[in-house]
Amino acid sequence: MPILEHDVALREYNTLGLAVRARRLVRCRSAADVAWAVALARREGWQRLVLGGGSNVVFTGDFAGLVLRMESRGMALAGRDARSRLVRIAAGEDWHGVVMATLARGWPGLENLALIPGTVGAAPVQNIGAYGVELESRFESLRAFDTQAGRVLQMDHGACGFGYRDSVFKRNPGRFVILEVTLRLPLVHAPVTTYADVRDTLLARGITQPSAQDIAAIVIAARRSKLPDPALLGNVGSFFKNPIVSAARMAALQAAHPGLNGHIQADGNFKLAAAWLIDQAGWKGRRVGAAAVHERHALVLVNRGGATSDEVARLATTIRADIRRRYAIDLEVEPVFV
Ligand SMILES: Cc1cc2nc3c(=O)[nH]c(=O)nc-3n(C[C@H](O)[C@H](O)[C@H](O)COP(=O)(O)OP(=O)(O)OC[C@H]3O[C@@H](n4cnc5c(N)ncnc54)[C@H](O)[C@@H]3O)c2cc1C
Repeated sequence: MPILEHDVALREYNTLGLAVRARRLVRCRSAADVAWAVALARREGWQRLVLGGGSNVVFTGDFAGLVLRMESRGMALAGRDARSRLVRIAAGEDWHGVVMATLARGWPGLENLALIPGTVGAAPVQNIGAYGVELESRFESLRAFDTQAGRVLQMDHGACGFGYRDSVFKRNPGRFVILEVTLRLPLVHAPVTTYADVRDTLLARGITQPSAQDIAAIVIAARRSKLPDPALLGNVGSFFKNPIVSAARMAALQAAHPGLNGHIQADGNFKLAAAWLIDQAGWKGRRVGAAAVHERHALVLVNRGGATSDEVARLATTIRADIRRRYAIDLEVEPVFV
């Protein structure tokens, strides 16, 4: 039986570095631990929060319920066919560690997703994506504890309802606790070089047939140059999602704001760069108390030291109101507010 810990500091468990506390916490290393913690919370009437690396949560204050911290470990080859291999990974594993471990074994497929903080179990929650690849394109299935049914389920791609930074898990907060994820990785490396950072660097280096390691190295260097390291400066990565607008709306916006760019989507809509909107509105470097917009990346809100939940929330709300006023666009927050 796991140990029930009381009055636990969460500052080290959220990358924004907010100094909040949890009334109770259980470290879950198995499905049995999760079932035990869920049953306990139900019996006692406590609210539950599943926490991985805390790199996509914003605490709005102390958490009065029970935190289930996912700390299960393990990665194994689970199968192979003519074109791909299946890799099964425990929810508590560190995502970037897994990316590097697969590459070290000569298994390509995750290189574009290198250096994304957090755990494997959280990766399907917002269908993590970067540099032209989303988790769902490497996803086979997962096992989750369904807290409504009180049993472990196997969920395939269709059951997860993936979208842009979205999934059935994000739309039903708290219902499923993801226990392990199985990825389908290609046997033959098919480089994804659609993003300018990757393409231009390969071109500059004269690399025409990049290995998965080449791409991982470029992605890691690009991310390090742009994004603050949460170990040094508290943040949760992108604070807002990139808004999606219709082609007609895009044309009107471009007429009013020359310089505004968008990526056309498969359905004909356009994805705008939220960072551009915020940058143009002059937000880089501005702060509310110790919560600030990063100087180099307008999409990243940072904790300059001792920021409170309230300061972060006020900064985010003010930015959203300003973007709505200037562009009539409602920015959607990416991290989960707890
Ligand atoms: C510097 C930085 C860069 C980032 N870059 C990117 C990026 O490029 N692309 C991207 O998509 N994201 C990015 N992120 C966001 C973040 O890394 C991802 O969302 C990551 O998957 C969160 O993992 P976590 O373990 O920290 O989740 P947490 O923050 O602990 O949890 C996030 C949500 O998932 C839920 N959850 C966590 N684990 C489980 C589980 N096992 N079962 C069910 N629910 C669970 C939590 O309850 C919460 O609602 C970045 C963050 C930072 C700080």
